[in-house]
Amino acid sequence: MKILVTGGAGFIGSHLCKDLLEKSHEVICVDNLMSGNKKNIDRILENPRFTFIKQDICDPLDVECDQIYNLACPASPVFYQNNPLETMFACSVGVLNMLELARKNNASFLHTSTSEVYGNPLQHPQKESYWGNVNPVGPRSCYDEGKRYAEALIYTYNQKHNLGAKIVRIFNTYGPNMRSDDGRVTPNFIKQALKDESITVYGNGNQTRSFCFVSDMVAGLEKMMESNHEGPINLGNSEEYTVNELALKIIGLTNSKSQIVYKNLPVDDPIKRKPDITKAKNLLGWEPKVKLEEGLIETIDYFNV
Ligand code: UDP
Repeated sequence: MKILVTGGAGFIGSHLCKDLLEKSHEVICVDNLMSGNKKNIDRILENPRFTFIKQDICDPLDVECDQIYNLACPASPVFYQNNPLETMFACSVGVLNMLELARKNNASFLHTSTSEVYGNPLQHPQKESYWGNVNPVGPRSCYDEGKRYAEALIYTYNQKHNLGAKIVRIFNTYGPNMRSDDGRVTPNFIKQALKDESITVYGNGNQTRSFCFVSDMVAGLEKMMESNHEGPINLGNSEEYTVNELALKIIGLTNSKSQIVYKNLPVDDPIKRKPDITKAKNLLGWEPKVKLEEGLIETIDYFNV
């Protein structure tokens, strides 16, 4: 099969490209390298079944393909808040372009949405039926509302053009190929711990997240693509940790002398987040396999060079 992965040089995208190549597919990776990193695809660039196109999905793109995985969008709060307009364009013009490309090719389309569509959730754990609690005019709104718009656009395309486009909502994911300047909690803490520097916990550290290792996420994306479900379906790990617990785990695993320092909690930082993955389990037969410690050890090895 010929498969287009947008955002294919990014963190999750690069793992997806590699896995699809290992399954003997032809892979076209499109990435503007704003938050993606050429280094992530270095090892697969030589593969004759792999093509890299440096391009923004907002610009016209004409390729032949059977499937499209749309992952192109800055995803870390630091990156999307530094590039808010680019983020909103990727979620609107970019998604529209990719939907049209899917229509033209009669290709299956999978869009990666986010747990951020639930905002600072008032329901816990978050089920797909929850409409969310999102601030439309805050520092996270370019991403949260952008992704919500993209979902509405895909829904409308499915209604109008019977496209069968799929939506998954990705919860916090971590692993090798995250940028060292990504700004998200796992790479931040690991880098700080490895250098025995202060671990910067924002707020009191009692806010929670649930961390999914990247190989589990890739398996979930592929299962969704192979299924006949449109979603939206949550993909994430349902083991919930406070940010303090994560910091202590990373300090322990790295044998670090780091101390925790407390900084201000960013505006609109969600206080609790944990996916309800009943739908993914029942409809896709998918659930995460990698335990947090196992995944952290692999991620620490990646950063410890
Ligand atoms: N966080 C932290 N220290 C850091 C980076 C993040 O305490 O150096 C916190 C952040 O405030 C949030 C959680 O860790 O509560 C997860 O943040 P991240 O940026 O990884 O992703 P988010 O889930 O907020 O999109």
